[in-house]
Order: sequence, then C-alpha cells, then structure tokens
Amino acid sequence: MDVNALLTDTDTMDRNIRVIYGSDIHAMTRKLLEDCDAAGMIKDKDTAIVLKPNLVTVSDPSYGATTHTEISEAIIIYLQEHGFRNITVAEGAWVGASTEECFRKLGYTRLREKYGIRLVDTKKDEYISVEAAGIPMEISRTILEAGFLIEIPVLKGHCQTRMTHAMKNLKGCLSDRSKRSFHRMGLDKPIAALCTVVRPDLVISDSICGDLDFEEGGNPIRCDRMMEASDAVLMDSYAAALMGFRPEDIGYIREAEALGLDCSAPSGIIELSKPERTFPAPEGAAARLGRHTDPAEACSACYASLIHALKRAEEDGSIRNLRGRKIAVGQGYRGKAPEIGIGACCRNAAINVPGCPAKADEIAGMIRSL
Ligand code: SF4
Repeated sequence: MDVNALLTDTDTMDRNIRVIYGSDIHAMTRKLLEDCDAAGMIKDKDTAIVLKPNLVTVSDPSYGATTHTEISEAIIIYLQEHGFRNITVAEGAWVGASTEECFRKLGYTRLREKYGIRLVDTKKDEYISVEAAGIPMEISRTILEAGFLIEIPVLKGHCQTRMTHAMKNLKGCLSDRSKRSFHRMGLDKPIAALCTVVRPDLVISDSICGDLDFEEGGNPIRCDRMMEASDAVLMDSYAAALMGFRPEDIGYIREAEALGLDCSAPSGIIELSKPERTFPAPEGAAARLGRHTDPAEACSACYASLIHALKRAEEDGSIRNLRGRKIAVGQGYRGKAPEIGIGACCRNAAINVPGCPAKADEIAGMIRSL
C-alpha cells in the first residue's frame, strides 16, 4: 500500500468544517449532507458506500457512548433518495462485546429490514493485512475496499487517550487481534498509523451528548451539536479544542503529525445554525463541575464547553485559580456585568471568553491564566 499517495490525495480536500446545533437529529444530519453536497462527492450510483458508526458496546446513545441511530438512518434515507443502493453499515464492538447485539439493540437490524442495507460485523469480516508506519494490522476488507466511507463517530472523553472521535473510532475497523495489539502498543502510535491507510471520505460527527471522560458512557454532556468534515484528522485536530484540549495534549494527533498527516486548523468553520437554549440540569460528574458555574438561560453548547474546560482545569489543578468564584454563562447575562463570564452573552464581564458558543480550549486557557 502506497501511504505517500494516500497522504497527497488530501491536497485538494475541502478543509472547511460545518457545524450545526439543535435537537432535531434527522433534520441536522440532512442539512449537513445537503450543504456539503455529499451525494455529489460519490462517483456513481453503484459505489459501495460504507457507514462506520461507533457501536462500542450495547449502550443507548443517550448515555454518551454510541452513535445516535437517527443519524445513520437519516444518511441512509438521503443516499437512497439520491439513487444509491449499495449501502453497508460496518462496525465491530470493543473486545468482549457482541457487535450483533449492538446491531440488534441499537436499531440497526431494523434499518436493515426497512431499507435493505447490509450489516457487516468487522469482527467476523475477511481481513486485509497491512503494515502502516511499520505497524502490522488486520483491517476489515469491507472497510478498506469501500468506494465511499462515511464515518459517524461520537465526540467523547476516553480514559486512556483522553479523547476519542473520528481517528480513534477507526479502531472498530480492525480484527480483535489487532485491537489487542494496539492496546499493547499504547494506542497513540498505532491509531495514527491506521489513519494513514483508512481515510474516511466524509465524517459526520455526533456531538449530541458525548461522555465527559469515558468511552463507555455514563456521564453524557449535552451539547446538541453535529459537525461535518472531509477528513478524520482534520476533524479531530479541530474537535480536540472543543473538549478543552491543546493540540499537543492528544497523543495520537501528535503522532499523526509526525507521520506527515495534516493536523493544521480548518480553513473555515461554516455554521449552519446557532446554538439553542436547551441547557439541561447537569448530573453526575457534570453536576460536580457545575458547582463552579452560574448559568442563566444557557445554551447547551456553551454550557458543555464550560464543563469540558472545568474538567481540564480540574486535571491540571488550575481550577484552584477560581478561588470559589463562579463562571457566568447564558443569555440571562445580556446587558449584565458578571466578574467572569463566557460567551457573547457575557461580553460585559470583567473577564470574558468570547464566542457563541465559547470554545472549551479558550475557557481552559482563561482559567489557567487567572
Ligand atoms: S454566547 Fe449566549 S447565545 Fe451564544 S451559545 Fe453561549 S449562551 Fe448561547
């Protein structure tokens, strides 16, 4: 496999990222697909289109671990309306979990019956043995030979790599044997290597309610956001900041850059809607971090940024800089002047992080500098 050819293929890639906010998942998915002209990217109607969601384990998407099934369904409907019939959903749950059970309980067998698509469990697929950046791996033939690969990852925390999204989600393309060997190698280097050979053509990100810090879910942070990009590395280089990380904080992004993958900023952020005021009462770990916040009519996207930033501040100890002060957030602060506030609504605060919504990496930087 010519890795250099794959690297240069991205030279002409659209490096914009589209972002949409809301709670109507079907409509948001459709809007992203229409705006980037997904159908126009696919060469012919017989192209083997493969959807790769994140079905890491049997867990309802509301817990923050798995892709919302409505997104996959909306993509299938959109593709079939445009005349594409060769559609497969391919995924492999993590080692020890049953992909077939995920397919059944998360609604994918229903999608197969309703739309006539194919389901492939990558744990049982044929594999192509590949050596990428010197690392051997067995990759699902269905994924590697896809004519058009659409990845649908969940933006969430991870206990080992800190964040998981488009790049790490590709681990579901491997045999269980390769997954185990990736873990033995510490994940960062092999994930970066995998990203040199499996290059999704389209990434539709589920950032509706990804987990704060654990890939298995349980502490979902409601964000009500979805995103689109033409590349997994581009998507993750941007998404890391949305969780409050600096680019150097995520090992597999550092390793990808060392391998020559383009980890630079997107050329533009195209916002297809503005955040909605749907801030939910925080629970679990979010409630603990929420003690440092003072929300008033906050949008879920802004509040999620603040919770992720507080998580980073808790990890590096800078949360002590707040010295009991709370951070204001929300439309209820328009025209008011709190001491510390985030987002455009708090622009009159003595200390303000701008943005609508404010970004978590910038909020984390503000807390570090207090
Ligand atoms: S700045 Fe205000 S309107 Fe914008 S996302 Fe934040 S709370 Fe909502």
